[in-house]
Amino acid sequence: MNIAVLIVAAGRGSRMGGGALPKQFRRIGNAPMLSHVLERFATLRAVDRIVLVIHPDDRARVEELAEHLPPGKVMLVAGGATRQSSVLAGLEALETHAPDAVLIHDGARPFVSHELCERVIAALDEFQGAVPALPVADTLKMVDDGTDSSFHTLDRSKIYGAQTPQGFLFRDILDAHRKAHASKRDDFTDDASIGEWSGLALKLVAGEEANRKITTGEDLLAADLKQKMGDVLPQNEDDRLEYRTGSGFDVHRFGEGSEVTLCGLAIPHSRGLKGHSDADVGLHALTDAVLGAIGDGDIGTHFPPTDVRWKNAASDQFLAHAVERVRARGGSIAHVDVTLICEAPKIGPHRPAMVARLSDILEIEPDRISVKATTTEGLGFAGRGEGIAAMASATVALPLQKLGA
Ligand code: MG
Repeated sequence: MNIAVLIVAAGRGSRMGGGALPKQFRRIGNAPMLSHVLERFATLRAVDRIVLVIHPDDRARVEELAEHLPPGKVMLVAGGATRQSSVLAGLEALETHAPDAVLIHDGARPFVSHELCERVIAALDEFQGAVPALPVADTLKMVDDGTDSSFHTLDRSKIYGAQTPQGFLFRDILDAHRKAHASKRDDFTDDASIGEWSGLALKLVAGEEANRKITTGEDLLAADLKQKMGDVLPQNEDDRLEYRTGSGFDVHRFGEGSEVTLCGLAIPHSRGLKGHSDADVGLHALTDAVLGAIGDGDIGTHFPPTDVRWKNAASDQFLAHAVERVRARGGSIAHVDVTLICEAPKIGPHRPAMVARLSDILEIEPDRISVKATTTEGLGFAGRGEGIAAMASATVALPLQKLGA
């Protein structure tokens, strides 16, 4: 069977609020809603052609979304004032291609599954149309005369909520739509109701909870969260991670000199810092934090101060080594946070450069790195200007080890 998909995405999303961007272009996870819809149908085996019915103002946006799809697979058609007229415009545009069947889908249902589409397509072997539907969970009240004080309860066991894609034999639904248009009926809210009105043989097939229509801003937030969780949460038990945090602390004393090295950055100062290596308290505290997170000793275990190799050594290699130890265990650095404690030099102006330097050494994004500074209000050794202290924490993601294993 030669199957086309017609996606209705011409709406302006007036019920959603929160900015002028129509809802089908709002992001869910890392892509606009309409991209998710397109992706689902573009990867459905039986589909030869996708007609996207859009608002003319959205053409540039949609062309960008469809850019990566095979040329000729997607046709853009300008929609009408109502959903019904938009669908008719899409069906008319498909006529010359004469598909056997068409799946008509709302652009605001991004989580449609291939299984659901297959159920709809399978029903078209025996019926002129198929409608995915779900039983309703709420007890339904029907108001008798438009007031809220006179109503009765409907038998909900007989009531279903209709979803999309609704599938039809192409010729039959095109004729039904044309007939509705010619009869000046423009009040149908889905295509199955036009099929019912014109007497098509239709069948309900099982819909899916996940295939709900995104209507409100709340729906959009929930969908976005769901998508992000799906991206983040490993599907496979063996891929699961655990997070561990380590802390570090270091102090170096001031001595002769004209610069100090802090977080890998040489900063001009009236004094230097004394130490076996370059005395970078920030990197030392951070190295201990990383080693602490994986329970792998401390900087002194890996780089003994008695070893002449580390005399005046640049401390970035200590931190790089600690990161290497994390990687060797299949882990990665999720986040680090360093606090420098001193009265002088002023740290603030150097912070962006320190973050960039740590990003290089740790090989992680700058937004996973924090560098902060504080004085001690003139109190203690730091306050008296005798030295600089640093504390750090590091969060490390590691493959999950079962407790007791
Ligand atoms: Mg040290």
